[in-house]
Amino acid sequence: MPHRTHQKAELVVYNTSQVLTCAGGLPKRGATAGELKPIERGAVAVAEGKILAVGPEDHVLKRITDETVMVNAHGGILLPGLIDSHTHPVYGGDRSGEFLLRLGGAGYEELQAKGLGIQTTVNGTRSMSLEQLLNSARKRLRRMMAEGVTTFEAKSGYGLDLESELKLLRAIKQLNEEGTSKLELVPTFMGAHLVPKEYADRRGEYLDLVCEEMLPQVAQEGLAEFCDVFCDVGAFTVEESRRVLTAAKSLGLGLKLHADELACTGGTELGVELGARSVDHLPYVSEAGIAALGKSDTAAVLLPATTFFLFKDRYAPGRALVDAGAIVALATDHNPGSSHTQSILRAVELGVMRCGLTAAEAIVAVTANAAYAIGREATLGSIETGKQADLTILDVATPEELIYAWGVNHITGIVKHGELVTI
Ligand SMILES: [Zn+2]
Repeated sequence: MPHRTHQKAELVVYNTSQVLTCAGGLPKRGATAGELKPIERGAVAVAEGKILAVGPEDHVLKRITDETVMVNAHGGILLPGLIDSHTHPVYGGDRSGEFLLRLGGAGYEELQAKGLGIQTTVNGTRSMSLEQLLNSARKRLRRMMAEGVTTFEAKSGYGLDLESELKLLRAIKQLNEEGTSKLELVPTFMGAHLVPKEYADRRGEYLDLVCEEMLPQVAQEGLAEFCDVFCDVGAFTVEESRRVLTAAKSLGLGLKLHADELACTGGTELGVELGARSVDHLPYVSEAGIAALGKSDTAAVLLPATTFFLFKDRYAPGRALVDAGAIVALATDHNPGSSHTQSILRAVELGVMRCGLTAAEAIVAVTANAAYAIGREATLGSIETGKQADLTILDVATPEELIYAWGVNHITGIVKHGELVTI
């Protein structure tokens, strides 16, 4: 292997307005919450799937050879590959009819109580083969990638029986192993998404199934890195969530919670208490929950596209969370019911326009802090020598322009594992 100082670039991205490296230590919070560490007119060189050099263009261009793939950013900004740290991308069924009911005035919670909502997707998902699930998931993940995402967190949770949950996690594993597609997913088990209808009167038995059969099998097969629970009204109580998460923790899984989305039930405090990697949603997080997140290493993953798509007005208090010192990330929550967008850029825009983040904080929230939220801060989330070469190129010159020209896909190029992705 050649000495690093002489190593030549396989690919170089040049002609940027700035490279927003997000370097300087991950995650970012407090005084560094909006730390982008820009390099004006910077360039990035890549070799063997990793960042070889980042710095002023004239310096980086010394690395090129006749074989180097040259990627012209045309005066745009270059970011670390965007990370969608909360998605439910593998599912069957069709809930467009339910969306029309919501447009007619029906509430999400009301439909859920009637056995629609998540249960509709569970019915559709159980009846699909692994191949059918893979085909539909590939299409939507490619569309999400075209919006700049290079790594996804991906949850199960639409099977809600042992075989169906395993089928979803095996689908996520297979998507991850498909080298040609460049998809990279971090798997999360979410058997405690809802009590399925056949267990409606036997909640305890369903929790037994999750804790005593599903979780051990998932852990034994190495199918998930995290366990998530929907801790909210109409889903699981704090004590039920504690039982599932404690079992998951004892099996070595990282913890996540859907917390304080529909009401303030204390999911945030539970997540902090158990040392969860993240608590997600948070429109109804309490003042005590905000303060607890400010002092803890549990990230707050905000999902404003869900609030928007459910026609609600109460967004997660992003500004207060950043000001309290919390680690704040943003994600799409892509799912078939409450957030059907496939655009991380819409989450970024709403993070600024509805949750009170600055443009710089919102970029950190889908790069450095999103990497932290999925346990990948050592390899992803910033442009630094030696890190995995995941890059996103946008046709705007500043972070603020990204928000100002909202509703537009500004992505002009993606580099994943050091290779240019066709989008
Ligand atoms: Zn979710």
